[in-house]
Amino acid sequence: MKKDTKIQWGTVFVLVLFHVGAFAAPFFFNGRRLVEFFAVWFVCGCLGTCIWLHRGLTHGGFKTSRPVEYSLVIFAALLLQDPLRWVASHRRHHDHTDKDGDTHSPKDGFWWAHIGWVYAKNRLMHDDELKHYAPKLMIDPFYSLMHRAFWVPPVIFAGLLFWYGGLGDVLAWMCAVVVCWHFIWSVNSFGHAKGRPRNKWWIAVLAWGEGWHRNHHKWPWSARHGLRIYQIDVAWYVIWLMGFLRMVRNIQLPKI
Ligand SMILES: [Zn+2]
Ligand SMILES: [Zn+2]
Repeated sequence: MKKDTKIQWGTVFVLVLFHVGAFAAPFFFNGRRLVEFFAVWFVCGCLGTCIWLHRGLTHGGFKTSRPVEYSLVIFAALLLQDPLRWVASHRRHHDHTDKDGDTHSPKDGFWWAHIGWVYAKNRLMHDDELKHYAPKLMIDPFYSLMHRAFWVPPVIFAGLLFWYGGLGDVLAWMCAVVVCWHFIWSVNSFGHAKGRPRNKWWIAVLAWGEGWHRNHHKWPWSARHGLRIYQIDVAWYVIWLMGFLRMVRNIQLPKI
């Protein structure tokens, strides 16, 4: 994507606020908050974002029931992610991988690929771009509602955390959000080092299997990214288990 250097200051404010919260979190550490941290990391990062937004919704790697789908979208929204924009920007990335028009290629700079594109005013803000890349979601009542109100679940969640455990619990969530963001963004930056998709074991370990990114670009519709037995892919193990429990169906896998 052609870089648009105009900055969305509202997004910058939220990013800075959450990073400050993340760095403050260790000062409020206790065992319960550590559990909350890992719960958000897994439920919102692995289940909501990696499994549903990425592998299920964007690429059609499997199907699931509406109640499961809606729950997973809400989990992903707790990381302040608009599902419609997520899908459209990611499909654009696959359409123009490391070429002109890519949403976030390190060819436009590492910082841009990692975080710059998140707060830049880019063309994905316009409805015509969203309509092009996610036409079905644009007319889906649930996703168009979430597009406008994805910030509501995190606000309610933060309020509940504050009521339940005070500021420290809110900070534990903010810390998990920031960690998830950077793990997900690392796929776009480190995972495309030297301007092409790479398999990176350490990103796969941190980001639930998303690090097998060269595999992913070769078979984008595959629900499984770690295609070898030694390629750790936690998201795939969960999808397999959900399939075993009849929670998901039509799981797509490459024949290799
Ligand atoms: Zn990629
Ligand atoms: Zn993808």
